[in-house]
This record gives sequence, structure tokens and C-alpha cells, in this order.
Amino acid sequence: MSQPGSETNPLRVAIIGAGPTGFYTADHLFKQKDVVVEVDMFDRLPTPFGLVRLGVAPDHQKIKSVTKAFNRTAGRPKFRFYGYVELGKDIMLEDLRRHYHQIIYTTGAQSDRKMGIPGEDLPGSHPATEFVAWYNGHPDYRDYRFDLSQESVAVVGIGNVAMDVARILSSAPEELAKTDIADYALEALSQSAIKEIYILGRRGPAQAKFTNPEIKELGELADADISVLPEEAKLDSLSKAALEAGQDRAMMKNVEILQEYASREPAGKRRKLTMRFLVSPVELIGNEEDGVTAMRLVRNELYATEAGTLRPRATDQFEEISVGLVFRSVGYRGKPLPGVPFNDSWGVILNQTGRVLNPDTQQPVVGEYTAGWIKRGPSGVIGTNKPDALETVTCMLKDLAKGLTLTPADPAVEAVEKLVQERQPNFFSYADWLKLDEIEVARGKELGRPRLKFTCVEDMLAALGR
Ligand code: NAP
Repeated sequence: MSQPGSETNPLRVAIIGAGPTGFYTADHLFKQKDVVVEVDMFDRLPTPFGLVRLGVAPDHQKIKSVTKAFNRTAGRPKFRFYGYVELGKDIMLEDLRRHYHQIIYTTGAQSDRKMGIPGEDLPGSHPATEFVAWYNGHPDYRDYRFDLSQESVAVVGIGNVAMDVARILSSAPEELAKTDIADYALEALSQSAIKEIYILGRRGPAQAKFTNPEIKELGELADADISVLPEEAKLDSLSKAALEAGQDRAMMKNVEILQEYASREPAGKRRKLTMRFLVSPVELIGNEEDGVTAMRLVRNELYATEAGTLRPRATDQFEEISVGLVFRSVGYRGKPLPGVPFNDSWGVILNQTGRVLNPDTQQPVVGEYTAGWIKRGPSGVIGTNKPDALETVTCMLKDLAKGLTLTPADPAVEAVEKLVQERQPNFFSYADWLKLDEIEVARGKELGRPRLKFTCVEDMLAALGR
């Protein structure tokens, strides 16, 4: 048999995870000219696009238009999609090794980080990631419940996910009704009693992780006034010096926007968004029966590490805020995949520039790769995953050139198709997804919405007449 990569013996690649990184990987593989590649993409969900469908906020439709490019990739004749097929359940690593020359894991970060404080697991305290998955109609989260009868809520963290969560909580029902938010979430949020939303940053305005458009949006909501305490909007001397030295325009703009918020008079809107800086939750107060009733905060000060980073340090000043609902938005975290080496402290697959490493020898595992958040951690915007995927694809092609691939016993396309049929007869092909997509868009159109999502697998199957 010739070296894989020819017309008669194409390089067979399995991509595990149909999020943006999976599609960028497929695109990079198809775009190079010297190697004939066949890509099979697997996802445990019936629908593709990962966080673009289930993470990007429903009122950020423009960001979702990246799926047009993904559809073009999926339209390549040598691309196949196997949705609703889970690695470790429906298909095993041994199966992949039997059918593919290379395997690449692009499963993203499917879990969340914890704050590590007492009371964190009380009823009413949730990871923001679960709330995001719920309002976006993720089938695994549609039955979750969040007590929106509370009047006061805290969002911990000042990254873009915290901005999304705070914005969705404070949006007017008419604003949400124009989006593709899950129908049950639209109904629940329309009846929400929430009046006060705290957003809590452990460092100062110059260390916020949110980006300019996201913080600006919070100041433009129909139903909520934003406020920042003037004393917290003011920069301390370390931040001022760091900002001047770094000349980071985006950060400067963040500070400018926050200082403008600090000078605003409330317009008497229905809800109040209060951004706090230099405070860390140290305890959630409450009990199993009533859930969270309050949060104890410590005031922080900043200090410079040896590397020059400004970190928070607790002072001896404490305060309590009354809240009945808490969303910790302190970062996503990767989940290990069965049989795949994992770096538990970083929450990523053990790898070097995308080559999966054997934990004992620290040498690459032949034929196994990773890209995206499960490779480098949950950072950057969707497009950041494009160069990241390219780095891994470059390693894959270099290894191929050296003959370092798996040697599958049965690389035939038909063999995989047959295996999937046996293990998961209800699998979704890309054509199935395109049909669902069309139905969702048509259902949405009737309501003046971009789409009305299917949020449970049974409904998706029924819509396809199965
Ligand atoms: P992130 O940007 O890393 O923000 C995490 C936030 O949590 C930071 O403010 C961090 O503070 C804080 N934090 C961490 N541990 C904490 C603790 N123990 N107590 C209090 N605060 C704590 O993460 P993310 O918001 O989950 O977003 C993930 C990625 O997705 C980011 O790259 C983000 O830009 C991207 N994203 C983009 C968009 C968009 O483009 N519209 C939307 C959503 C997400 P420190 O800075 O002090 O660590």
C-alpha cells in the first residue's frame, strides 16, 4: 500500500468535536494541495458548531455567521459528519485506531472552574456555563432550573461570559424575543423578578478581561441602568503605571467606558446593574432549604508579581451583599476524554503544539492530536482557534511526511459508516443537520426570530420523520 495521502489511499482523519476548531482543522486539511484527505467529524450532539450554537449569546447573531464558512467546508465531497455519536460510548478509541491514520480531539472546554469557597454548592449557586448552555438550548441543560424569582443576583468574574450572562439577565423580553434564545428560556426570563445584578471583579477596571463592545452593550440596555462606584473606577497607582507603560488601547478604552458609567445618573430603569471592582467572594451564606441568601466579600488590593503582573490580595475589610442567585463566571475547563492523556491541573489534553504526549515518556503518541480550547485552555475569540488549528495541522502533515501515522487495519469509508449504523442507528449526517437547520429557520421566521431551536434529541428525530 502506498503512503497515505494519495487518491487511492487517502489520509483518513477523524475529528472529534464539531465546534469551530473542528471545522477550522478540516478546512486547513482540505486546503493543502499535496495530500488527499478524507475527514470524518464526530460529535456527541446531533447538531454541529459547538459553542457557536450553544455558547455564543443569542443576541450576538453576527458572530454566528461564521457557520457559513463551516457549511462550505462541510460541503467538500470528502467530508462526513457523524452527529450524536459519542467517543467512549458509541465509538471507542480502538475503533478510531482501526479506521483512521490520524485522530484529532477538538472537544473544547465542557466544564467550568470553581471559586473554592464555602457555600459554593448551595442551591442557587451555579456555574455561568450551565446558564449559558440552558438559555442557548443545549439538550443536556434544557431541564435545568434557575430561580429567577429572586430579586438580587451576583455574577462573579469580569470576562466576556460574565458580560453575556449579565446582559441576558438584564435584557427586556422584547430584546430577547428577537434572538434565537431557547423558547423555554425566553418564557422564564420574561417572567424574571430580578431587579439588581452585581458583577464582581476581583481586580480593577484596568485588569478586566471583557472587550470594548461587550462592556459598551451593558450601558445601552433598554431595561437596566448601569452603575460603577466612582472610587472603584479610579485607577490605583500600579494600574495607572501599567496602563501607561503598556499602551494597551483596548484596556484604556475599557477604563474610559467604566469611568463614564461611574459618572452616570440612573435613568430610573426597571433593573440596576452594579459593577464592582477589587472584591472577591469569600463565602456564600444560606442553607440547603432556602439556598443562597447572601455573599460575603473581601476587599482586595493589587500587588505586582516578580513578572510584573498585577494580582489581587485580600485586605481585612469585609462586606456582605444580599443575593439569592449566584453565577460564577470564572472560566471554562476542559474535560478528559476516555483513554486520552490529560493535564489535570491545566484542564487540557497533555500536548505539545497539538501533538498528544504520552504522560510517562513525554513523547508524542503516534497519530493523535488536539486543537482549540482542549489543547490550550479557554482563551481568545472563535477566530483564535483558526491559527491554533493550523499549528496542529502543520504537525500532522509533518508527521505524515515522516511516515509517522497510525496503520489502520480497515481505512474504508464504508467500514466506518457500517460501524456507526450498528452502534448509533440514530446518528445525524450533515444532510440531516441541513434539514433541521432549514426547519429551525422557518419556524423562527414565523415569529420574527432568526431561528427557533430544537432543544431535545427526540424532537430533532421527529422533525426528520424518524
Ligand atoms: P475569562 O475571559 O478568562 O474571564 C474570567 C474572569 O473570571 C476574569 O475576570 C477572572 O479574573 C475571573 N476569575 C477567575 N477566577 C476567579 C476567582 N476565583 N474569583 C473571582 N474572579 C475570578 O473567561 P470567560 O469569560 O469564561 O471567557 C472565556 C473566553 O471566551 C475568553 O477568551 C472570552 O473573551 C471568550 N468569549 C468571547 C465572547 C465575545 O467575543 N463576545 C463572548 C464570550 C466569551 P482575573 O482576570 O483576575 O483572573
